[in-house]
This record gives sequence, structure tokens and C-alpha cells, in this order.
Amino acid sequence: MTRAALLPCPFCGERQTSTIASDVDCYFVRCEDCLAEGPPEDTLDEAMVAWNARAEIATTPRR
Ligand SMILES: [Zn+2]
Repeated sequence: MTRAALLPCPFCGERQTSTIASDVDCYFVRCEDCLAEGPPEDTLDEAMVAWNARAEIATTPRR
């Protein structure tokens, strides 16, 4: 199920394995490859935005 573009996982760079997961009352994006989880948010859309925001930060060159 895809609703909008998710950025690649900030930890392993996987593009195809990020999925939306839900807990009791929150949503978060999870990478099925390295099991990294994005910040939990109240809505699915917010979780995706939060994931993308973190992915952008993580793609900054380390040196
Ligand atoms: Zn990953």
C-alpha cells in the first residue's frame, strides 16, 4: 500500500522496504530491512512526513 513517496531509509538506504506500521494509537514508518522505525505520530500522514524529515537529515554527508 503506497500513498505517497517515502524517502529511502536513512540508516541502510533501502527504498523498497519501508512500510507503514501502526501501534495502538499511533503510526510510524518502519524499514523492514534494518527495522529502523520513524517517529510515532498520531496520523499516517504525519508519520510519513516525520520519516522523510529524518531521512533528509540522515542523508547529509558525514564528512
Ligand atoms: Zn533500513
